Amino acid sequence: MGSLAEAEKRAERALTNRIAVSALLETSLELLPLDRHVEVILEIILTVPWFAGLRQGALFVLDELTQTLRLVGHKDLPVALVGLCTEVPLGHCLCGQAGASHALVFADHVTTEHATRCDDMPPHGHYCVPIVNKSRLLGVLCLYLPSGHQRTDDEEALLATIANTLALILEHRRTESELRKAEERLRFMAYHDPLTGLRNRQFFDIAFGKLFTSLQKIGRRQHEHPFQGAFLALLDIDHFKKVNDTYGHLMGDEVLVLFARIMTECFRDKDTTFRFGGEEFVVLLHDISPAMAEVALNRFRIAVASYTFSQVGQVTVSIGAVQVEAGELAGTLIEKADQALYYSKSNGRNQVSLHHLLVAAGHLQVVNHEPEEVDLW
Ligand code: GH3
Ligand code: MG
Ligand code: MG
Repeated sequence: MGSLAEAEKRAERALTNRIAVSALLETSLELLPLDRHVEVILEIILTVPWFAGLRQGALFVLDELTQTLRLVGHKDLPVALVGLCTEVPLGHCLCGQAGASHALVFADHVTTEHATRCDDMPPHGHYCVPIVNKSRLLGVLCLYLPSGHQRTDDEEALLATIANTLALILEHRRTESELRKAEERLRFMAYHDPLTGLRNRQFFDIAFGKLFTSLQKIGRRQHEHPFQGAFLALLDIDHFKKVNDTYGHLMGDEVLVLFARIMTECFRDKDTTFRFGGEEFVVLLHDISPAMAEVALNRFRIAVASYTFSQVGQVTVSIGAVQVEAGELAGTLIEKADQALYYSKSNGRNQVSLHHLLVAAGHLQVVNHEPEEVDLW
């Protein structure tokens, strides 16, 4: 009879253990934020019905760079203790020992090895369980026990299974986060220029499309939100070929990087800056009057002309700009800005030309294509 009762108890424990492990695995399918995930994990572990532990615990994840265990979540730890255990170096206190040795640490009371203590905590013991995958430490699970608790093989077997499951979960989280970071890096590379870090031509196509949509919306609600307009400016470094020929391509690259930095510093956060290719750059100035656009572009032109580029010395920029009209094709606008830029170039360089002023002064012909003639977008 005794052995039958024992067998029943074992079967029941095995079943509750299996339920806990499947519940833990299920949590990793949901991809919860880390703090919420740890909360759910601890709740599942601490409610295994036959486990004699207290309903208190914590989960640490290893920061590989600093070889420190970082507290990522806990259940019912006193606030003072949370502050003390935010970062636990490997080897320090019971959790640090479990992490350093890759072996379970058991304490039936607060021993001298329990280095980090909180005076107002009642007597207690611990299971500190290392979470290891293929000999690599991922973290430590810290559980609280009633003082004087005797360790048992059943508890240690359960904790070993839980640690293996947590290893899978933490690896899964790590892989997911690395994938997300790789995706972000790829997206950045697809839409940014590697030399200057500015947005590239592909990004411009998207930004310009968005600007157009918002201009159309604003046009319909101009009475509610007065909007001064937007400007597209082409910026082309003067005689840049000479910089390369005289100082070498590397020095030329440095000028491009510094030029992009001056752009970022000079224009407002709400303006968007791009490198179109070579020594040609673009800025989209948002919500700005023609007079202020001219002031902003001249301020940038002067900032470039007064900057001393190391070894190269002085560099100047010519600028052509056009007001963005809702409904006008991007190709037409770029052509108009290019005409204005050409005017700046052929009139001595180091100057800003606005398309509408050139037209008004009779210096330029009006460009207006039928939509189907332009196939840029
Ligand atoms: P302008 O005043 O008429 O604009 O004359 P420019 O010499 O600036 O113009 P041009 O188009 O003749 O020459 C542009 C030069 O830019 C030629 C090319 O080798 C150089 N260039 C293009 N891309 C890069 C780059 O990524 N790095 C470097 N260092 N040079 C580049
Ligand atoms: Mg040039
Ligand atoms: Mg050029």
